[in-house]
Amino acid sequence: MSAIIHKISEYSKKKIFRNILFVIYLIGSAILVIVCNVYIFHAWKNGILETETEAVQLAEVAEAGIPKSYISKLDDDFNYSGLTEYVEVRHILSSIAKLNNNVRFTYIYIEKEGEIYFVADSEPVWSEDYSPPGQEYIEAEEKTFLPFRTGKTVLTKPTKDRWGNWVSVLVPMKSLENGEVIAVFGVDFPAETWNETAIARTMQAGLVSLCILFIYSILSFAFVQNRQLYKEKGKLLESERSKSVFLANLPGMAYRCSYDRKWTMHYISAGCMELTGYPSKSLINNRNLSFNDLIMPQYQEYLWESWKVAIQDGSKLKEEYEIITASGEIKWVYEQGQAIYDENNNIEALEGLLIDITSQKEQEKKFRFISEHDTISGLHNRRYLEAILPLELESSRVEKHALVLVNIRRFNMINITYGYFYGEKLIKEMVELLLEICQKDHSLFHISIDRFAILIHDYQNQTEISDLCDTIIRRMQNLRSINNVQASLGIVELKDDKMNADYILKLASIAAEQASKNQTLDYCFFNQEMEERITYKELMKEELAHAAVNDDDKNLFLVYQPIVDLKTGKIYGFETLARFKSESLGWVSPADFIPIAEETGIIVSLGKRIMRQAFEFLKSLELQGYDHIMLSFNVSAIQLLQDDFIQILEGTISEADINPVNLNIELTESVFSNDYEEINRILAKIKERDIKVSIDDFGTGYSSLARERELIVNCIKIDKYFIDHILTSDAKEYITGDIISMAHKLGHYVVAEGVECEIQKQYLMEYNCDYLQGYLFSKPLSPEMALELLEIEEKGCHAYEKAEGET
Ligand code: C2E
Ligand code: CA
Ligand code: CA
Repeated sequence: MSAIIHKISEYSKKKIFRNILFVIYLIGSAILVIVCNVYIFHAWKNGILETETEAVQLAEVAEAGIPKSYISKLDDDFNYSGLTEYVEVRHILSSIAKLNNNVRFTYIYIEKEGEIYFVADSEPVWSEDYSPPGQEYIEAEEKTFLPFRTGKTVLTKPTKDRWGNWVSVLVPMKSLENGEVIAVFGVDFPAETWNETAIARTMQAGLVSLCILFIYSILSFAFVQNRQLYKEKGKLLESERSKSVFLANLPGMAYRCSYDRKWTMHYISAGCMELTGYPSKSLINNRNLSFNDLIMPQYQEYLWESWKVAIQDGSKLKEEYEIITASGEIKWVYEQGQAIYDENNNIEALEGLLIDITSQKEQEKKFRFISEHDTISGLHNRRYLEAILPLELESSRVEKHALVLVNIRRFNMINITYGYFYGEKLIKEMVELLLEICQKDHSLFHISIDRFAILIHDYQNQTEISDLCDTIIRRMQNLRSINNVQASLGIVELKDDKMNADYILKLASIAAEQASKNQTLDYCFFNQEMEERITYKELMKEELAHAAVNDDDKNLFLVYQPIVDLKTGKIYGFETLARFKSESLGWVSPADFIPIAEETGIIVSLGKRIMRQAFEFLKSLELQGYDHIMLSFNVSAIQLLQDDFIQILEGTISEADINPVNLNIELTESVFSNDYEEINRILAKIKERDIKVSIDDFGTGYSSLARERELIVNCIKIDKYFIDHILTSDAKEYITGDIISMAHKLGHYVVAEGVECEIQKQYLMEYNCDYLQGYLFSKPLSPEMALELLEIEEKGCHAYEKAEGET
């Protein structure tokens, strides 16, 4: 508000000042006009006076030249026409008239008895204007007589007579003896030319006045112009000032400089001191040093080129570079600038702003370090490997590259058995070991918790790599924290520059998987056969996609493996297992085609088909009176995380018209390494619909029992690995019993899968395992056989008699 009032008062002050100036201008003009008029009038007056004085002087001088004695010789009877004196006088009179341009007539007259008579005149006798001696001057006026009365020269006003309009100088001619006026000498000046001098003088004065007025006008105009310029300059200065106030208050350092290699500065805001440690003035006009001296050498040329490009494109310069400050500190700056052009479109200057981004850069560096390194080992991670691998392959002059994937076997088991602390310790020891083994031609990466990759930059032959792998495996046997940790190593020789890291790692994983299947060798080179398997996958994809959406495609069907209650020995339910027979490849295990379906997204439609068919089977059981039989079916993470999973599940249930209480969804443990919160949210919805959930393959994935506590699940299916362990390990090393009792404590029931022999069953019964699934009881069965088995059981046959199923 006060700012507005201040502005208004400023404005009215300016207006008053403008009005005063205008009044001064008017007064000045008026005074000048008056002065000029006075001057002109004065010139006129002077002109007249000068004419009069000159005329009087002329007349008086002329009169003095006429001998008075001659005059006295001319009697008042006027009979002297032949007299020498008369002739002489006439001669003098005409000479005066002739010699003086302005004089028209000269004459002498006398007064006789109150009348005026000419004595002589300047005109020749033949002239019309000639007045013979004794001719009366009948137009005589008062002033004609005046010289006789006063004895003084008389100057008449313009007077008209028969000869014209005249101004006359009448000079009394006095007797030398007594000083009496004996006659009057008259000189007539034509009235028309009388004012000539005065007019000339007046014109002169007028001209001078005009010049003065003109100069005054010019000066006034110049003054107004100057004031305007001054105002504009003021405004410019004001805007410059406000600009510099604005610039000075910007964070960082604002500048205006020339477009030259030294970036000669014309303006630098006070922020210069904080940013560079130098006061602004030391950089202005390169006084003590140029701005270019502050730019780290490696950026100088780069910045120059960048400006060139920005100017060419008419865009802003946006660059980050390093400068060196007065104290020798290196700072990162962000510069944003642009070229300023003059009216001819030439670059007038460059203007911009520099901001200190050192701390952001450090932050960025930290973030980059975090994103490129593994937090436990500090080694470069998978993301980094993915980023540098293509560059490495393209730029390196070395021809032979290989990648060795080191996969720690059953690392999750180690976590479960010994705890996470030991797991982490093991990883750290592995890092130490691998770093010791790796040579200068090797780069080590920690690509996931239990997987390392060694990029070999140059090697002679496969034996060299085999030796490296052997060393790793051997040294791993003797790790301090946990003895006898095993690894599967997959090796890929990189022959093709175009291979990306993701693909190479996939190939290495395939090789490592192969190694883990092989009992004698712990490492495996990716080979032709595996490559063929990749092609095989491609083939399978197409057939799978067809089967997934065509319910009548007989190549895909379902089998049902009984799950038996260990306490009653009766069938508790069935697990639905998919079967697929490829046209080109023959029978394919779900362990093979399910991952392919998952990779390709086919699992979504495949899952829907499996649900439809399985629910139909359950409905047929219900219709046969087996309405208490549970039906488990496997759901993969990709399916579960579909937005419409619950909707589809509900839709399929109501379509088949089954009781959802009899349904059990099996989710493999690795599902929970996904978005934990999201999974639990979906599980809650499943629970709301009275459907049960089991954690499949427990012990192979990433979760732990402690974490399972938070999950909304009903059952744990112990992986076959633990069941197999019952046969191979000492009783004291069995952890299966511990898993069962812990699961019970968490309120889950337990299914043991892959039970193949009596010993395992005995052990499981001893540890109160709830249910059993395995070849010991039955292989997966066709729907018809499954129903038959239920009927046999109902007829009182003992369920432990092994049921015949798939072969
Ligand atoms: P899973 O869910 O763990 O299924 C148990 C697997 O163990 C089945 O293999 C079954 O045939 C096998 N099995 C059962 N008892 C024994 C036994 O005593 N000894 C041996 N050696 N094996 C036994 P299958 O049918 O080959 O299935 C492999 C995996 O494929 C399944 O493992 C499951 O993860 C997946 N799978 C099968 N069908 C489906 C399906 O419909 N949907 C989804 N998403 N996955 C499926
Ligand atoms: Ca399963
Ligand atoms: Ca399983």
